[in-house]
Amino acid sequence: MFADKVNISIKAGDGGNGAVSFHREKYVAAGGPDGGDGGKGSDIVFVADDSLSTLIDFRYKKKYIAPNGEPGGAKRCSGKSMEPTVIRVPRGTVVKDAKTGRIMADISGDEPVVIARGGKGGWGNMHFATPTRQIPRFSKPGFPGEKFEVTLELKLLADVGLVGFPNVGKSTLISVVSAAKPKIANYHFTTLSPVLGVVKRGEKSFVMADIPGLIEGASEGAGLGHEFLRHVERCRLIIHVVDVSGIEGRDPIKDYEKINAELANFSEDLSELPQIVAANKCDLADEEQITRFEEYIAGKGLKLFKISAATTEGTAELMDEACAELDKLPPVKRFEPTPLSLAELEQIAEEKRSFSITNEDGVFIVTADWLAPILYNCNMEDYESLQYFQRVLRQSGIIDELERMGIEEDDVVSIYDFEFNYVR
Ligand code: GDP
Ligand code: MG
Repeated sequence: MFADKVNISIKAGDGGNGAVSFHREKYVAAGGPDGGDGGKGSDIVFVADDSLSTLIDFRYKKKYIAPNGEPGGAKRCSGKSMEPTVIRVPRGTVVKDAKTGRIMADISGDEPVVIARGGKGGWGNMHFATPTRQIPRFSKPGFPGEKFEVTLELKLLADVGLVGFPNVGKSTLISVVSAAKPKIANYHFTTLSPVLGVVKRGEKSFVMADIPGLIEGASEGAGLGHEFLRHVERCRLIIHVVDVSGIEGRDPIKDYEKINAELANFSEDLSELPQIVAANKCDLADEEQITRFEEYIAGKGLKLFKISAATTEGTAELMDEACAELDKLPPVKRFEPTPLSLAELEQIAEEKRSFSITNEDGVFIVTADWLAPILYNCNMEDYESLQYFQRVLRQSGIIDELERMGIEEDDVVSIYDFEFNYVR
């Protein structure tokens, strides 16, 4: 079975809590605070793995929870920070936020990409001694790790995509010009998963993908084709394979038009991809059939490649042409991540409002998991972000609660690693 789109949930590790502890030594009466800091929670990182070609494993394991950082200890001991948790995916996997569809990363390169950040550890009480507060009996909680529902979508990285009706000879073609060994059979939908092949032309080479046959209505989700069109999205060039012999009782011109309509229906980008048209099964076709199709294609200002994948006739010329075309085209498309917008952050702030506040010697410590993504994404040096953050504190009722607890001008409010003095 092939899987190229799955949803999974990921949760990075929470930071360990800071410790509350006091120095103890024989004959020494009152030691100072020596509670250490919590360790950092494990990040969740994604890495491209070329030995994988489908997302099938994620059908069976859908939850990934990375370990939390260890809490701090006495004697200024820091808790252990956790190594990143690595999730391996096929190269070309695009990671999206399942709720918003926002692109988080395109796992196409060799660099590991952090998708969910592990929480920082909280400070131990050793940091909180001041001349006026010599026995701080509090520490900071660890920062919660980020968690997301993500959609993984495999969008193959191929230079050339073979498209066409089922049974026109796409799999046969890739098998004669590359080392790929797809299933070839005389019935529809033999190709159930895209197959990649490397085509070598002298010093050069390119990657070609055999995409399962498109059928009518595919772009509306009927049948198989639609699912697979996303694999063509990244291709730089399409080789449109048509059965010119009409052996299956269809008209090659109609086939050609239907496939193009399907591509256009899926997306404008697909319909704008450059195409090379290959008339296959020339060994079965008579001159008249070939000429009719050739004239039609010439009428569109295009050149036709007459081939027989079965006898390999004309396939070398077709590959040479593809290679030459690729030289003129831009590289394979990468999807750029889109950052969380303030509007999306606002929504997070509006969705959940539970929080807790404790007053520790005049330091108001606020804890609320939902504030984590906001703190991660807000740059407090930036005026607009700061304004936004203040609005969040007000809307969520945190400010009201602080006032109810008797906060006074200049008291310290501490939210994970962010601290500020309260101003009325
Ligand atoms: P796909 O569905 O487009 O991948 O088509 P396949 O490559 O599986 O081919 C479908 C059938 O057509 C198979 O029986 C092939 O052997 C046959 N076929 C493919 N190319 C040619 C060709 O050039 N000439 C002839 N005679 N048969 C072909
Ligand atoms: Mg096939």
